[in-house]
Amino acid sequence: MNPENRADLLLGQLRRGPDKALHIAGRLRLSETEIAQAVETLEERGYRLATESGGVLRLVGVPDLLIADEIEHSLGGAGFGRPLFTYGSLGSTNTVALQLAESGSPEGTLVTAEEQTEGRGRQGRSWHSPPGLGIWMSLILRPKLDPARAAGLSIVAGVAIAAAMEGPAGARVRIKWPNDVLIDDRKVAGVLCESVLEGMRVRHTVVGIGVNVNHKPDEIPPLLRDRAVSLRVATGRPHDRVELLAAIIGAFEQRYRTYAGDRPGPVLAEFRERSGLIGRGVRITQDGGGFDGTVLDITNEGSLLVSTQAGPRTVAAGEASLRMD
Ligand code: ATP
Repeated sequence: MNPENRADLLLGQLRRGPDKALHIAGRLRLSETEIAQAVETLEERGYRLATESGGVLRLVGVPDLLIADEIEHSLGGAGFGRPLFTYGSLGSTNTVALQLAESGSPEGTLVTAEEQTEGRGRQGRSWHSPPGLGIWMSLILRPKLDPARAAGLSIVAGVAIAAAMEGPAGARVRIKWPNDVLIDDRKVAGVLCESVLEGMRVRHTVVGIGVNVNHKPDEIPPLLRDRAVSLRVATGRPHDRVELLAAIIGAFEQRYRTYAGDRPGPVLAEFRERSGLIGRGVRITQDGGGFDGTVLDITNEGSLLVSTQAGPRTVAAGEASLRMD
């Protein structure tokens, strides 16, 4: 067994609670020296351990990093998030996830990064993803949905993010159709859904999620300050990124199973409630043009049904931007 494995074993023991180093050594069949080395290895990884009276070892702090061990621990059990690929700095998690999907990685595969240097938004826009402050991740899906219905997965992700953030935010988290999540009218998270088609079916979809978590006010670029917010700025305190990541994955998986299982009703009901859009006047911008109307409803594909002077129009997610009156 190498020192890294011994450190993993010790971490597993300490997660269950504090215990005498001697007892742990006995249970793991390790020498005292090996335990001391494992403590050092964990400290090098950023864990904080304390030795208390009677030789009791206690885990007092985990690193504020999106590391595999912590993510796996928070995700618990089986479900989305496996296999897991964690990166330090990366161009774009969506790009890597698309490559992994192409080479056969299964549904539920998760890619995370501490930093994206080329984070993407819709239509070639960029997504600011500085190191250590947010959740920048992409999930591979293989939905048995037609391409139109797969476009609605962006809505499913938005609803899941909003639901998972509501507790930590302690405030109403709103969805701005089709792909943004807002607190106090400012963007706290965004979704970028990319599908690869094979004839009339979806080969795979990658759902990219970016959440601004622990930025202090001056860590949000000046150009974005009137439109963007972090959970920390909104609540006045830092948040555990790994915990929030796991909550989002759990909330998403649950809704995805229903939506992709041909029951879009419940998630659309959540969207209607969280978007506050139904009955509202909006301006839709598309391909340089635009029109005004009143939102009648959202379709099973996540498109908006808008009443306009020229009659009802359907606007697909992915193509358009929306401004509320
Ligand atoms: P709109 O809100 O105008 O409809 P969009 O939703 O299509 O735009 P996205 O493609 O989702 O926009 O996101 C990219 C845009 O979001 C960027 O052009 C920039 O204005 C803004 N942005 C970039 N990074 C962040 C971030 N970390 N947090 C919030 N907003 C960001």
